[in-house]
Amino acid sequence: MLATRIELDGRRATGVSYRRPDGQTATAQARREIILCCGALNSPKLLELSGIGGGAVLREIGIAPAVELPGVGENLRDHYAVRMTAKVRNVATINEKTRGWRLMKEAALWALGRPSILALSPSLVHVFWKSDEALDRPDLQITFTPASYPRGHRRTA
Ligand SMILES: Cc1cc2nc3c(=O)[nH]c(=O)nc-3n(C[C@H](O)[C@H](O)[C@H](O)COP(=O)(O)OP(=O)(O)OC[C@H]3O[C@@H](n4cnc5c(N)ncnc54)[C@H](O)[C@@H]3O)c2cc1C
Repeated sequence: MLATRIELDGRRATGVSYRRPDGQTATAQARREIILCCGALNSPKLLELSGIGGGAVLREIGIAPAVELPGVGENLRDHYAVRMTAKVRNVATINEKTRGWRLMKEAALWALGRPSILALSPSLVHVFWKSDEALDRPDLQITFTPASYPRGHRRTA
């Protein structure tokens, strides 16, 4: 079902309108709260479709502003990732443990509730780091994965 609009009573969100599979529109009333979790792009889109956002932006696309919130839909940033890979010797990485009989062994360990790489997140170490001590929050992230991936796609101009 596709949420199409957050219903408001003044500045208070009271329900969500949505399109049913048969094409009809229905509204669900919230008893306590609405959790908006449509993802990084669709969450601000649904807010804006509901009249919640920057007044000038909304007016430009023909939506009457109901709640002025200029931050909605702004500051989306892509993160640039540099991937560095190193060859290792005499160490079993996730690459080896997820091939052939070793994968069967890991699956069996997992099924028995024993420690297994199937229960691990690929990135096991995360570092949040400031590029400048004067910053009030980290702006760099380092992750360590005991595995390697195929080379990423190259973008051609
Ligand atoms: C390629 C890729 C790799 C990633 N790898 C990792 C990783 O290794 N580790 C990590 O922690 N994070 C990773 N992430 C990030 C992670 O996937 C997101 O941070 C996370 O999924 C965000 O969860 P969410 O519930 O906020 O939104 P989403 O997972 O985007 O879920 C939003 C949901 O809302 C639905 N929806 C959208 N609009 C509407 C609507 N109008 N009505 C009804 N439903 C709607 C969508 O269909 C979707 O199901 C990765 C992301 C990508 C794209």
